[in-house]
Amino acid sequence: MAFTLEDLPIRDDLRGQSPYGAPQKHVRVQLNVNENTHPVPADVAEDIVASIRQALATVNRYPDREFTELRQSLADYLQHDLTAEQIWAANGSNEVLQQLLQAFGGPGRTVLGFPPTYSMHSILASGTGTTWIPAQRDDEYRIAPETVVAAIREHRPDIVFLCGPNNPTGTPLPIETIEAAYDATDGIVMVDEAYAEFMPADVPSALTLLPGRERLVVSRTMSKAFAFAGARVGYMAAHPAVIDAIRLVRLPYHLSVLTQAAAVAALRHAPEMLAMVDDIKQQRDRMVTELRAMGYRTYETWSNFVLFGGVADPHAAFEALLEQDVIVRDLGIPNHLRVSAGTEEETTAFLDAMRRVAADQP
Ligand code: PMP
Repeated sequence: MAFTLEDLPIRDDLRGQSPYGAPQKHVRVQLNVNENTHPVPADVAEDIVASIRQALATVNRYPDREFTELRQSLADYLQHDLTAEQIWAANGSNEVLQQLLQAFGGPGRTVLGFPPTYSMHSILASGTGTTWIPAQRDDEYRIAPETVVAAIREHRPDIVFLCGPNNPTGTPLPIETIEAAYDATDGIVMVDEAYAEFMPADVPSALTLLPGRERLVVSRTMSKAFAFAGARVGYMAAHPAVIDAIRLVRLPYHLSVLTQAAAVAALRHAPEMLAMVDDIKQQRDRMVTELRAMGYRTYETWSNFVLFGGVADPHAAFEALLEQDVIVRDLGIPNHLRVSAGTEEETTAFLDAMRRVAADQP
């Protein structure tokens, strides 16, 4: 028998667990991990390269451990009167969330979440030894204020994870639900706003709730709207005391001087980097309209992707799309698949491929 990790003296609570596993396949139309499929504009890329070149001059030294310039740039980008002291960043919002769990979760502590939600939330809980408590959503994957309050009263979690708009469903998270959750707990309330830039413009972000709420944390990322997934930059906004707590668990110098330089340069061009957001929203809405016309069920989505139901055999549909050089995501939700909005051309390729899949369905 081959030697496996199960033969190692691994932590008992990690036995039998699966790693995060979205397939990484190189196909022509990649709409499986909610990236921004538009490349960084050439002039912005040039400025980023110039900044990285400059940063290389000091690469023999450790980077600014407090990434002061980046935090200021992120505060300016977020607005809402935020200051650099209220901002923290790491290698992707995944790392931000991991640090949050290291500081406020851990063995003997619990985090409440509402599946189906971002799969890393429970995986990060497991990695940090925090007990993950799944609670029920309402119809159409929504969470009403009463629902969040009832779950908090029942489970008394140390941390509440909310995701708005929610991945993988795209569903809005009402601001009233966040307020109700905060009032119902003495613990940390974390709102994962990875897709915030795709929300309707007139909808308030959880950032508006930060004043006076010292236990509220809002996490964001440059991976989605900002087309910067490969650079690995995520961040959060919270009371400075929360940031002090994160400093107790973060690795020193966790953000490389190259990452800091690249992110600051990209943020200098925020309007240009975000220029594609409207186009992506249009393609998302087009996907909703055309999938419905094909007879699939869709949900209200405020993100850059669409969850659709009524797929007789998601695994077979996934494979049939792959054969046509299109990759989407099969998340194991019965009769559902998720697809990220692409460029107009990619969206057309997906919809054409999907029409052929629909025609073949019994
Ligand atoms: N939160 C949500 C809801 C996500 O969907 C993702 C990426 N799929 C992330 C966080 C993590 O993004 P990153 O680590 O690239 O910032």
